[in-house]
Amino acid sequence: MNQLVQLRHTLHQFPEVGFEESQTAQRILEFFRPLQPDQTFENLGGTGLAFIFRGKRPGKRMLFRCELDALPIEDLKESPYQSQIPGKGHLCGHDGHMAIICGLGEKLSQNRPETGEVVLLFQPAEETGDGARAILNDPRFEEIRPDFAFALHNLPGYPLHQIVMRKGTFAAGSTGMTIFLKGKTSHSAHPEAGINPAQTLAQLIKELPELPRTLSHFGLLTLIHSELGSLAFGTSAGKASLSMTLRAFDQKDLDDLIEKVKAKTKAVAEPEGLEVDFGFVEQFAVSVNDPDLYLVVEKAAQNLGLTLTEKPEPFRWSEDFGLFSQVCPSFLFGLGAGENCPQLHEGTYDFPDELIETGVGMFEEILGFVC
Ligand SMILES: [Zn+2]
Ligand SMILES: [Zn+2]
Repeated sequence: MNQLVQLRHTLHQFPEVGFEESQTAQRILEFFRPLQPDQTFENLGGTGLAFIFRGKRPGKRMLFRCELDALPIEDLKESPYQSQIPGKGHLCGHDGHMAIICGLGEKLSQNRPETGEVVLLFQPAEETGDGARAILNDPRFEEIRPDFAFALHNLPGYPLHQIVMRKGTFAAGSTGMTIFLKGKTSHSAHPEAGINPAQTLAQLIKELPELPRTLSHFGLLTLIHSELGSLAFGTSAGKASLSMTLRAFDQKDLDDLIEKVKAKTKAVAEPEGLEVDFGFVEQFAVSVNDPDLYLVVEKAAQNLGLTLTEKPEPFRWSEDFGLFSQVCPSFLFGLGAGENCPQLHEGTYDFPDELIETGVGMFEEILGFVC
């Protein structure tokens, strides 16, 4: 295990953000070279990597996914392996997830699966929700298209090594959405000659967050940024923007919510003579867990003697692994990182090294059941 811990510490020292993970990918590539995978894919969906280990007989293709990217947040935890890149840190534990998949690679290299094949995927840019999409859009994805996909995420706030599970939706879907309102500037002495979006903006700020209540299930609309005109006191504002994050536990609810925001905006803005446009960023699909794979993961946890907790409600945050659940039966589970551990994305967060062995063990057990 020491080698995996060492690898994680090195990755932690040199964090790279989404689609810039070329050094990280290089380190992973070097780690895998002596393991002699049957096939290697480089620059998958940008900076991604995939390694295939084939079994003795044909069968199903299983995919295990981890993330290459770090965050544009300063690493504040002092340690011998503290981030050496100013303003960047592995504060979501993706360094640990990578070490786990590397550990699984070691096991597979010593012991190929009986049947089928295993794909170990190192995906770029999870944090912006763009990485999984980039992998799926890469034409070479067809060569690794899985029959089943698995991933785990470490979870501060849960006992160390505890497995956190859920049937159905595990994590919410979400999208960043910006409304653009275009009116007409005029001299501030004659606002009546222009079309100033201020009142419309005020109405939208007040009314849009109420929209999720009209959904039949959980939905959330959080305002995050707004801009009106510019700092020119002689000019009546002629444009505005309003940005928000929309969330729901069901893909249809999320799509409905987007449509409701669009309809409401048009209904309020167009009678005022404003032109309306919409932009979307950081789109995360809902992560839906397959009920049959639940049994597989449950058995894996039991075999390792790990405690298991069932989450009554899905998590409100999103994971771009959700896109894989639209491709094949998939399962995302949580791995407790300790009750007193700083939260993910906090400056002092640091993936607990003890979890590497547990993560490798879980994936190895899962592998045994399916292959
Ligand atoms: Zn994160
Ligand atoms: Zn993460």
